[in-house]
Amino acid sequence: MAFEGLSERLQKVFSSLRGKGKLSDEDVRKVMREVRMALLEADVNFDVVKTFVKTVRERALGSEVMESLTPSQQVIKIVDEELTNLMGQEAVPLNKSKHIPTIIMMVGLQGAGKTTTAGKLANRLKTQEKARPLFIAADVYRPAAVEQLKTIGQQLDVPVYDEGTEPDPVDIVKNGLKVAEENKNDYVIIDTAGRLEIDEQLMDELKRIKELAHPDEILFVADSMTGQVAAKVAAGFDEQLDITGVVLTKLDGDTRGGAALSIRSVTGKPIKFIGQGEKLDQLDVFHPDRMANRILG
Ligand code: GDP
Repeated sequence: MAFEGLSERLQKVFSSLRGKGKLSDEDVRKVMREVRMALLEADVNFDVVKTFVKTVRERALGSEVMESLTPSQQVIKIVDEELTNLMGQEAVPLNKSKHIPTIIMMVGLQGAGKTTTAGKLANRLKTQEKARPLFIAADVYRPAAVEQLKTIGQQLDVPVYDEGTEPDPVDIVKNGLKVAEENKNDYVIIDTAGRLEIDEQLMDELKRIKELAHPDEILFVADSMTGQVAAKVAAGFDEQLDITGVVLTKLDGDTRGGAALSIRSVTGKPIKFIGQGEKLDQLDVFHPDRMANRILG
């Protein structure tokens, strides 16, 4: 289960406070040392943990006293609020263009879940807005990727523009956008190539696609199982492409929390959706407060 270890650790830490009438500075410091350990073990980025612990400690030691809450409830409340802040406070909607089509470009490392998430997004737009999206298959390095997108297209009854794996992906995108214009598709979802790690050639290609397509949304798809590495990779993509949002995938697995808790702070970009399964309807809007509650158990 996602965040299991972290939740258990935090619950244990907070239960040690239960029944205490008033918390001494030493109590607070001790608790925050434990929270720090728990977050580091959950693979949260070191700087993020440092700032988080400092903020919570200062608030808990400060004059904030709510009469209705016990001291331990107060600490939990502060941790809850700061976890929410760390993940961005509010849900952030998908960017939308004033003129059709809204263009969404999916980017990320291979295996993160780009193609699957492209399908999930199209499914969501179709069911919620009765939208008529078009996929563009621009991952020409992995022949299976084009086939995978076509299969998803068939399942969802969403057209896929593809030219196989020979042409330059920038040309494929250019031609695909023309088709979208002719057919008056309201959304275009571009599936791009990934690699096992960031490389210059890939970034160059993605930049060229961006320059041509002017996407309204560049979604970095991050595998939450990769922990804080996901945040580092996201920062790399952001630096090159100025991403507009993040999708965290595989939150149905036993991810520890490092990605969810680091990525917003490290990139400054909002997590917009979370993937919670392999099926095409398993994509949800990301709500930082709900995620904080889930972590606190
Ligand atoms: P891409 O290389 O980035 O396009 O990745 P794919 O879309 O091919 O996904 C890689 C694998 O991750 C596939 O087996 C997907 O079914 C799986 N996957 C994607 N998103 C999720 C998710 O939210 N939960 C789970 N459990 N698996 C996912």
